[in-house]
Amino acid sequence: MKHLYRIAFALALYAVAVFAFKAATKPHASGSNEGATATSVALPVRPSAETEAELARQIQERSRQLEIQAVHLERMKEAKAQMMTRRREVQSASYAAWTQVLAVNHDHYLRLHDQAQKTPGGQVPCTICDGLSYMKCVTCRDHDGKCITCNGTGRLASDAYCPSCLGKGKCYVCTGSGKMFCPFCDDGMIDVRRPPPSNFPPLY
Ligand SMILES: [Zn+2]
Ligand SMILES: [Zn+2]
Ligand SMILES: [Zn+2]
Repeated sequence: MKHLYRIAFALALYAVAVFAFKAATKPHASGSNEGATATSVALPVRPSAETEAELARQIQERSRQLEIQAVHLERMKEAKAQMMTRRREVQSASYAAWTQVLAVNHDHYLRLHDQAQKTPGGQVPCTICDGLSYMKCVTCRDHDGKCITCNGTGRLASDAYCPSCLGKGKCYVCTGSGKMFCPFCDDGMIDVRRPPPSNFPPLY
């Protein structure tokens, strides 16, 4: 696991930093108040037991955080490797609902497209969605915003991150809001330069 190398490297860096810190903060002379002359010899002073215990605790804590980070990165890597495969499954599960949205609004869309063609700018406001380019998500159940692959938990068996939502538990189509982008418009505008709606639910 390459993350172990990172942990070892970070710990080595940390040890060097601790050593440098000790060296920099070491008192220069044992008795500076009386009789200190240019010839006095500086004696090394060991850090107190409390300081050493604190440093050991900090190193242990840092090491624990690095291990957690390494596990997170490893799980994320595995989830990303399967992301598109699992999202295609979600896509086919949403296909019927998506097709229905396209079919129900087809004539309405053609009318708006026609009107847009007659305007100088080639645009008219979209009245299919809420005007802000949002409509009910076709992917999550009852538009609840939960990822359907993991049922909103973000995890699969054995604590692996869900590949569809990458561990977030949110529907990737609506990012958990229950509202997806309107397939017909851009930012609430029907634009003649825009291609017609996709035949498939999004994979992003
Ligand atoms: Zn729209
Ligand atoms: Zn959704
Ligand atoms: Zn999920």
